Amino acid sequence: MEENIHQDFIRDIIKTDLASGKHKSITTRFPPEPNGYLHIGHAASICLNFGIAAENNLATCNLRFDDTNPSKENTEFVEAIKTDIEWLGFSWDEREYFASDYFEKLHGFAITLIEKGKAYVDSQTQEQIRTNRGTLTQPGHDSPYRARNVQENLNLFVEMREGKHQPGSHVLRAKIDMSSPNLNMRDPVMYRILDTPHHRTGTDWPIYPMYDFAHGLSDSIEGVTHSLCTMEYEDHRPLYDWFIDELEVFKSRQIEFGKIFLSHTILSKRNLTKLVENKLVSGWDDPRMPTISGMRRLGYSAESIKDFCKRVSITRRWNTAEIELLEHCLREDLNKKANRALAVLKPVKVVIENYPENQVEYLEALNNPQDADSGTRKIPFSKEIYIEQEDFMEKATNKFYRLTPGREVRLRYGYFITCTSAIKDPVTNEIVEIRCTYDPETRGGNAPDGRKVKSTIHWVSASHAVDAEIRLYERLCLDPEPDISDGQDLESVLNPNSLETITSAKLEPSLKDATPGNPIQFERLGYFCLDFKDSTGENNLVFNRTVSLRDSWNKQQSAS
Ligand code: ATP
Ligand code: MG
Repeated sequence: MEENIHQDFIRDIIKTDLASGKHKSITTRFPPEPNGYLHIGHAASICLNFGIAAENNLATCNLRFDDTNPSKENTEFVEAIKTDIEWLGFSWDEREYFASDYFEKLHGFAITLIEKGKAYVDSQTQEQIRTNRGTLTQPGHDSPYRARNVQENLNLFVEMREGKHQPGSHVLRAKIDMSSPNLNMRDPVMYRILDTPHHRTGTDWPIYPMYDFAHGLSDSIEGVTHSLCTMEYEDHRPLYDWFIDELEVFKSRQIEFGKIFLSHTILSKRNLTKLVENKLVSGWDDPRMPTISGMRRLGYSAESIKDFCKRVSITRRWNTAEIELLEHCLREDLNKKANRALAVLKPVKVVIENYPENQVEYLEALNNPQDADSGTRKIPFSKEIYIEQEDFMEKATNKFYRLTPGREVRLRYGYFITCTSAIKDPVTNEIVEIRCTYDPETRGGNAPDGRKVKSTIHWVSASHAVDAEIRLYERLCLDPEPDISDGQDLESVLNPNSLETITSAKLEPSLKDATPGNPIQFERLGYFCLDFKDSTGENNLVFNRTVSLRDSWNKQQSAS
């Protein structure tokens, strides 16, 4: 696989169109509807549309908000979408457009079609329109209003525009063919009456254009050469072309590609909206959400998301990518970027009996073995340290090589220690303290006599440690392809254990200065980042686990 070169059938078409001289320059657009936050599927579309522009100096990409449905749209979504696209590293310069900017022009196009006898006002009820549309096997029936003359249609449409009619009383329809085998061509609705205010045009418009009418003509107004959309619009293409041809305006070409899905999650905005509205997650940027803002908060880098989109590639088929691939891209990127640190999530105290009281040594640790320029730091070491409860076993099993009475292990960046005993709570029988001795000759992690130990464990100095809350995230859904068909209870497909909160964590003191957006590898534990929303400073540190170090998911699943 050629990982550094983007290649797909759409890029091939564009290359051909430039080479043949059909186009001297290329314009694409990314057309989100501002009715939710962007998700990883949108990222694929962004990487396609903006990516084409970034790769080719003859191409540009517009950002166009497809805001023709005022009941679900708002400016919070507009702003969030812009933030996400910029964060991914793409730019639309001054080319930020809104379909609502074209309401006047689109209205003019509608008048032209009425004047040409190609559009009419229909006054059937919604129910009648639906019934008379026919089915896949039955042709439709003409509306009794289809024969209205041009003047009558113009008068009614003017009245609709002036707000003189109630929602549902009339619609404007294209006059095409009620017996077309393609249902989209059976006199589709172009305008409906809505008394919903719009987040940009307020109450200026009592009528709103439908998607199929507005979208293609917005493309045409902007001179979009290649209008890239997902496969479900393939059957709409004849209509897309019909409006453009009837109006004799700039000819944009619609090309469809297959949607990208991701395993173990839910992608449609409709369902993501339900998760947010029903408070099944903390918001659109909940770190478990497959939204770009959720992934960013979890600790994803823009590079890893773009790398994933590149590897998934655009085809004409639906494509459910495995989340393991996304995580692989993430680990590859974080391994290069993340500084290392020591953190103990579930601590137990270790007292080093022969270490001098009140002595503190500063041990040198590598910041990032993958990055020679990242330097080193000093970690305090003292008589009392914390280690992970898991790294001690009172009666070790055959395969347990870590700390147990009588066994010597290495402390990361530090000394060899040998366990002498464990002290238990007489009531609960829990281990409350582990006693050890250390070998002063082993500073730096090697014994002068060459003796070996089987394991190295992480630790933090008890008196120097800083407290933190740690959030461990798991898959949003246990099922790789959750059933979210209509009527399905959304909550039942969610992983009930997708978040574990640990409040006892002890971190090396340098983590006080962690900043959002900078990944950190907690050695042996995974990649983490500061939660930029809930972490409010040194006394209230919150870290999210971005991803574990290795993919233990499949193993865990088959073992349980
Ligand atoms: P959803 O179905 O998830 O609600 P949508 O298509 O309604 O998404 P839009 O805001 O209309 O959301 O999408 C903006 C652009 O992103 C469109 O061009 C759309 O084709 C593309 N897009 C949406 N979902 C995906 C996906 N899963 N894979 C690739 N492209 C997508
Ligand atoms: Mg859409």
